[in-house]
Amino acid sequence: MNQSEKILKKQRDFFATGVTQEASFRLEQLNKLKQVIQRFEPAILEALHHDLNKSELDTYSTELGMVLSEINYLTKNLVSWMKAKRVKTPLTHIGSRSFIYPEPYGVALIISPWNYPFQLTLAPLLGAMAAGNCAILKPSELSPHVSRVIAEMMSSQFPSEYIAVIEGGAEASTELLNLKFDKIFFTGSVVVGKIVAQAAAQYLTPVTLELGGKSPCIVHKDAKLDLAAKRIVWGKFLNAGQTCIAPDYLFVHKDVKEELVEHMQGYIRNFYGQDSQTMLQNNDLTVIVNDRHFQRLITYLERAHVLAGGGYDEKRRFIEPTILDQVDWNHPVMQEEIFGPILPVLEYEDLEEVIAQVNEHEKPLALYFFSENKGLQDRILQGISFGGGCFNDTVMHIVTPYLPFGGVGNSGNGAYHGKSSFEAFSHQKSILSQSTQFDLPVRYPSFKYALQAI
Ligand code: NAD
Repeated sequence: MNQSEKILKKQRDFFATGVTQEASFRLEQLNKLKQVIQRFEPAILEALHHDLNKSELDTYSTELGMVLSEINYLTKNLVSWMKAKRVKTPLTHIGSRSFIYPEPYGVALIISPWNYPFQLTLAPLLGAMAAGNCAILKPSELSPHVSRVIAEMMSSQFPSEYIAVIEGGAEASTELLNLKFDKIFFTGSVVVGKIVAQAAAQYLTPVTLELGGKSPCIVHKDAKLDLAAKRIVWGKFLNAGQTCIAPDYLFVHKDVKEELVEHMQGYIRNFYGQDSQTMLQNNDLTVIVNDRHFQRLITYLERAHVLAGGGYDEKRRFIEPTILDQVDWNHPVMQEEIFGPILPVLEYEDLEEVIAQVNEHEKPLALYFFSENKGLQDRILQGISFGGGCFNDTVMHIVTPYLPFGGVGNSGNGAYHGKSSFEAFSHQKSILSQSTQFDLPVRYPSFKYALQAI
């Protein structure tokens, strides 16, 4: 037995004791997790700084803060979600009662990426714990310091038969994916998502896939341009554009393009530095995760028409927030998810062209539409299939526990956050509880003969 198999076996045995099914156990463990996160906070901050040069502000708002507030939300609601839910019973089943009982799947495997390496490992885990599962976590090898801290933090608080962390890259994932889990939750690229789905298929394991893609941001001519510019610049360049739901490219109505870009240039200076020199010397800004991604991103800048930014520092793997003009679908920057601080701008005259062009491509994870017109908002909603998004904002739909977060088609399937996290790791067991006080004869074959005899 390899290490993964041994841990899985121990977790199966622990799950079989039934301890994780109790509400008191789940609540206690979630509270313990909160305490250990608070205890490890300095180490988490340092690890994120090491791996991505993340500032404290970004770490609190997008990593620690999100996880801690999700724990609070889950612990507050867990007991009511765990209750068997009584539902209606048709008249044909007279005498019976019907209810739905959420049960934990068992042992879950959670594989996560490097871009929000703490939050994207812990947030699914909260769902797994709340729903009463055991879990094995496989963080990304591309954020090794965060992976190490997560492993230390978990082993200091939880026995490995309940929560375990296995570190490593594709080889560690492959070893795990060869085993039979009861649930797989994967966050990462579309390419690896397909590998995970195939591995899950061999055991028919239910799988949630949180993937990526090119998320459009559309600014119509009636939008409040200054506010739109501020919110787009923030959402795009947060974490150096390494956000799965960052606006990937901008579609702007040709009448307002110039004005919108001017506002965006202003906000880039306002948020990140007055000029190129200041930005390049600002050590607080998030960098690109590794050389491979850095080299991939700077090739987009070759022969490009740059409206803002364009500078970079290879030694630090830093790229200035950049806006590119004169781009069409044939440009290399439009061929794949950008996942970096580069925003190409396309212009349009008729919103229907935008809808048609977006629909020629894979279904996006997110979509942002800036317009004051409710009719046009409805047209976008009905005309394009996408995971989720915002009207007149970017990214913020991910930070509410009341909205399920997930993709559709190529951008993923399944959802989590808030109650959806609990549901992602629960099987809905349907029960019809029949009366034994009487037995209606109509369903039995003998009823037909009894009728014929009349
Ligand atoms: P990735 O798919 O390369 O890696 C994700 C995880 O899979 C890592 O833990 C990695 O070790 C593992 N892995 C890599 N190759 C594997 C293989 N051959 N077999 C099995 N496992 C393997 O993704 P990434 O580069 O870490 O993250 C970036 C991608 O993730 C982007 O496409 C982004 O849009 C997406 N993403 C999606 C969300 C979301 O919530 N939908 C969030 C963050 C990132």
